[in-house]
Order: sequence, then C-alpha cells, then structure tokens
Amino acid sequence: MSKTFLIVAEHRDGKLRQVTLEALQAAARSAQDGDAIHAALLGGGLDALASELAAYPLAKVHVIENEGLNAYNPEAYVRALTPLLDALKPDGLFLGHTAIGRDLAPALAAKLSAGQLSDVTAIDQEGGEVVFTRPIYAGKAIEKKTFLAYPWVVTVRPNNIPAAEAAGGGAAIEKHAAAPAADLRTVVRDVVRKTSGKVDLTEAKVIVSGGRGVKNADGFKPLEELADLLGGAVGASRGACDAGYCDYALQIGQTGKVVTPEIYIACGISGAIQHVAGMSGSRIIIAINKDPEAPIFQLADYGIVGDLFEVVPLLTQEFRKV
Ligand code: FAD
Repeated sequence: MSKTFLIVAEHRDGKLRQVTLEALQAAARSAQDGDAIHAALLGGGLDALASELAAYPLAKVHVIENEGLNAYNPEAYVRALTPLLDALKPDGLFLGHTAIGRDLAPALAAKLSAGQLSDVTAIDQEGGEVVFTRPIYAGKAIEKKTFLAYPWVVTVRPNNIPAAEAAGGGAAIEKHAAAPAADLRTVVRDVVRKTSGKVDLTEAKVIVSGGRGVKNADGFKPLEELADLLGGAVGASRGACDAGYCDYALQIGQTGKVVTPEIYIACGISGAIQHVAGMSGSRIIIAINKDPEAPIFQLADYGIVGDLFEVVPLLTQEFRKV
C-alpha cells in the first residue's frame, strides 16, 4: 500500500532552512514508487516560501497560516498541525534535528501514537525496510534501526543527508487557516537569537572553533575573521565558554551543539572526549595547538603544532589570496 510522508518545514528570516531540504531528501529515501511526500509550512506571509518549496518533488505544500506561528510555540504548533495530521494520516513524519524539531517531534509522535527516532544521519532501504542510522553514546557507536510498524517520526541531523534538489515542478499549494496561537506561552517582546555570526552553527560548512587557548574574548577575533572569510561560523569548547570568553550558544560538544561541517578548525582546544562528541562527525578536522601531545591530534586529519595567534592570521592571509 502506498505511504504518505510529511515534512515539517522550518524557515528563518524569510528563508527555508537547509535542514528542511535534507529532511525532504530523507523522506525521498524512505519512499517507494507511488508514495506521496507532503510538506507543512507554518506562519504568516509565506507565499514566496511556499512557491519556493513547491519547486521540490512534493505532492503538496500545506501552508498553515497564522502570523502567530512565525515564532515557535510548541502548543500552538501541535494544535495547528493536528487537523493536517488527521486529514493526511502520515505514515512517516520528518523534522530537522534542530531546537524546534527536537521539541516538536516527541509531541507529534505522541499525537500520532507513533514511534520516534532522533538525530538520524543516514537512511537506506534494505530488503523493503527503511533503515535509519544514528550515532549513540555521544558518537562512540553507530546504530542502525528500523521501525516495526508505521507511523513513525524522525528527526534528521543537519549537514548529513544531502539536500533535495529543486525539480522545477509545481507542487500544489494548499492553504489552511490555523487555530489561534496557544495562549499558554506567547512571545511578549522579541526573540533574541544568539548566534556566532551570519551562519547557523549547526548548518555551517566551515567552523572555526576556539578553546581555552584563545586566552580571552579578544582572542576570538582572529577566529571570527577566518570564519567570515570562509563563509563559516565560530564555535567554542566548553572550556572557552566557562572561562567567559564567549557565549554558551557557541558551545560544541556533549552538552553543547552537535556539528558536522565539511571543515572543522579547532584552535587551542585540547580535544576532551566531551568536546569530540560534538564534532567528530566533521568531514575534515584541522587542529592548531601548541602542545604536540594534545589529544585533538589523534582525531585531526591535519595538525599544526604552533601558536594559534600566529597560525590563524597566517591562514587567513593565505586564504585571502585564493
Ligand atoms: P583545555 O583542555 O584547557 O585545552 C586548551 C588547549 O589549548 C590546550 O591543549 C593547550 O595546549 C592549547 N593552547 C593554549 N594556548 C595555545 C595557543 N596560544 N595556541 C595553540 N594552542 C594553545 N567540553 C566541551 O567542549 N563541550 C561540551 O559539550 C562539554 N561537555 C561536558 C560535559 C561534562 C559532563 C563534563 C564533565 C565536561 C564537559 N566538557 C565539555 C568539558 C571538557 O571535559 C573539557 O574540560 C573542555 O572541552 C576543555 O576545553 P578546552 O579544550 O578549550 O580547554
């Protein structure tokens, strides 16, 4: 019997988040011929985004309209999505493994009486079954799982599954009026987003990360310069955050963010296991540390033994020439 999959799309500052397109690809990898993939977009003033999403291989884009949904609110989101879930009865639901996805997925799974799997990094079909891969024990082991029954809810780790490509098609766009925003929580003033710059840390292709070796808040400046030049984001170890050199929003690791960029440049970071838990999935790891015995070198693809205050500006200077 053909299946129905639904992606809960995320948008920020008028743009679709990259992880939404990765979730779409995840759904495509779970689907067989004849299955339908739908997307739900929540918020107000989303006509342009809905048209953009409709260019991807989707059966339908459902716009759940309410200005109040532009800011995430779990009760309001669940309430707004419920009529669509009731109508579509999706067999599989896909969300990004983001702050929103992590919060919303279990609530929707409970609503659907569905199984749930978080932080999926790969999806394959084996013998007619959809097999999900995900890291466990802070990345020390990888497990492969299948569900015994539909429906299920899955969150997809950003930067692991390639984003779906626009097919140039025109999926139908259906507008749904949303129930009024839930009154349990409302944004009274403004949402203050703490970021490490223009690029979202979990979606960045390049991360330049600083540890206690940066010495103070000013020590992050050369790292920011390099990250800006490479179109990346700045991250940090907990050591640097605890020392007050930067905000905890930048922390990468077991108790911080999990990142999987193409290039991770660790500057003055020793490579404690709790830090490694958040960045070991990076494609290329470059470590800059003045201690040749630092554990980060065991993990690094390229290691530079030296003072980060000399090496980082030199790298920036060289990359500027390219
Ligand atoms: P340090 O270990 O002090 O290393 C600093 C490094 O900088 C050294 O290797 C030194 O050689 C090098 N250095 C110094 N000066 C220079 C220079 N001028 N140039 C080049 N190199 C230089 N940590 C995290 O990062 N993320 C987490 O999520 C996290 N969660 C934790 C959870 C728990 C329950 C616990 C117990 C710990 C957690 N930690 C976490 C902390 C972790 O154990 C380490 O203490 C922390 O990662 C160390 O940070 P660091 O590498 O910046 O500092």
